[in-house]
Amino acid sequence: MTEIFHRSFERSLDALVEAAVPGRSFEAWTFDDPASRRDAERRLIEKGVRARFRSAYKPLLFAFLEDIDLAGVTAIEVRYPVHAQAPANRFRLEAYPLAALVGGRRIDFVAREDDAFHYDVALTRGEVEETLTIPAPNRVHIDLVGETSVSPTGWYRDAGDGTGHRLETDYERLFHEAIEAIEAYDFGRDEPYFEELNVRVTYPAEDVALPVGDEVVSLREALHEDFYFSLLERFQKATGRPLGDRGLRPGQIVPEILAGDGGISVRVEVRPLTSGFLDGRDQDLDEAIEPIAAGQIERLLAALGGEELDARTRSGRLVAARYVPGHDAAVMISGGQHPNEPTGIVGALRAAEQLARKNGAHFVVSPLENPDGYALSQRLRRDNPRHMHHAARYTALGDDLEYRTRENAGAHLGEKTIHLKAEALTGAGLHVNLHGYPSHEWTRPLSGYLPRNFAMWTLPKGFFLVARHHEGWAERTERLLDRVTRHLRTIPGLLDTNRRQIDLYEVHAGETGFRMINGFPCLVSVDGRHSAPVTLITEYPDETIYGAAFVAGHTAQTETVLAAYEAWQDIATTWV
Ligand SMILES: [Zn+2]
Repeated sequence: MTEIFHRSFERSLDALVEAAVPGRSFEAWTFDDPASRRDAERRLIEKGVRARFRSAYKPLLFAFLEDIDLAGVTAIEVRYPVHAQAPANRFRLEAYPLAALVGGRRIDFVAREDDAFHYDVALTRGEVEETLTIPAPNRVHIDLVGETSVSPTGWYRDAGDGTGHRLETDYERLFHEAIEAIEAYDFGRDEPYFEELNVRVTYPAEDVALPVGDEVVSLREALHEDFYFSLLERFQKATGRPLGDRGLRPGQIVPEILAGDGGISVRVEVRPLTSGFLDGRDQDLDEAIEPIAAGQIERLLAALGGEELDARTRSGRLVAARYVPGHDAAVMISGGQHPNEPTGIVGALRAAEQLARKNGAHFVVSPLENPDGYALSQRLRRDNPRHMHHAARYTALGDDLEYRTRENAGAHLGEKTIHLKAEALTGAGLHVNLHGYPSHEWTRPLSGYLPRNFAMWTLPKGFFLVARHHEGWAERTERLLDRVTRHLRTIPGLLDTNRRQIDLYEVHAGETGFRMINGFPCLVSVDGRHSAPVTLITEYPDETIYGAAFVAGHTAQTETVLAAYEAWQDIATTWV
């Protein structure tokens, strides 16, 4: 192991308590959970100081959770700033999911003309209107990759001082110092630069679960996301690639953000890759309540019969798929390309089990395309089961498998071999590619708040379908989507979940911009990148769901595969 950076940081709350002068009152905005902030306030009372510690992260949401009394309130109006260097809806998004937490009261969000960093809140109680100003401390800065960002920051204000000044908090300092140390480190010229780049942070903040869907506010999860994508951007920039380029292969970047025992520390080191799995017990596939064991995936695949297809990952893990030959029109089914999206893995296997019993069935099932990412997601979930862990979306090379091709892979074709073998064996006209996305809000608080290049995924907005087709396949694709969504309508609860998520999305983000087909949002585009003329991609909001919600997720995935397979038999025959 090679250590690149290691240090501990003084906690901002402790420094503020230490520096407080008896008899003076102040307010401060820090990145801390409610319990830690209340504790610091109590310590100050003992010192004879009245202070109020507020959340620098999602300040409007926490003002409603901690301070604002809604008794007797019938209507709420929130006027939010619009900053030229941030998306127009940025501060409305940061208020998410407030609209679902006000107990059915009317709530309106109104864009202001100015960019002053505060919200104006008007509460109507009968004939009386109360107005409040809720500060939202932010700073405009040039980030690591040269982009101008508007990001939440710490703030300090003495009683009687209307303005106050910026306070660089522990949360911001640990992030910037670690990133700068990695930025300055010489990784050499050849990709991949390392096996695992491990960023281990202890930060004493507990997650705050909200009584809305799968929502949980997590400072540590947000830190994982900001570290992961900021480091990808660092290597994109260093290699002259555009931001968001998905072909980069730096190695496996692993931010592990732990609550620890009260101290704040960061250790960055380069480590060897692992090659095992951290499997739990086998589950009943149809009723699985959490991601299934890798060993169970292998056994279920073998039980399907047919021909085994295999490949090896960078770490040496096996990628396995099955080809079941028959006289039907062939369909390729895949899952686990992004293994932190776990319902597609179960859905692919459940559908394959049913198809394998059908006379004439003809398909390839490749349920876990990225086992290195899956092993990482198992590891990260042990510490933080409700964090979305986008580090586990990528392979041990650090690339997105979707963008690895025969042409750009060089010596690293690896996992992709399975897909090429499946295409060659079947010549399938349809590829059903099962995916998911976060089931709660995804942010990068220190780099402009919204996840750069993934802004459309920041909030859940239901189960939706993405269809990509070759030129000349539009009509067949439309027919497929119509058939599949008609079938999905029959799944109990699915349309209701969609409606609830889309309604809340629209209050905080605006229109989805998707076409609705039979109640399901769909995106259709002409795309010649894939060999199959039609690719149907599912997107279930499944990152971090468990229990009954997990069962509902893989059931939707299973039913999509089965409906698409059946529809494809008619579509393929009609057009031949
Ligand atoms: Zn995905």
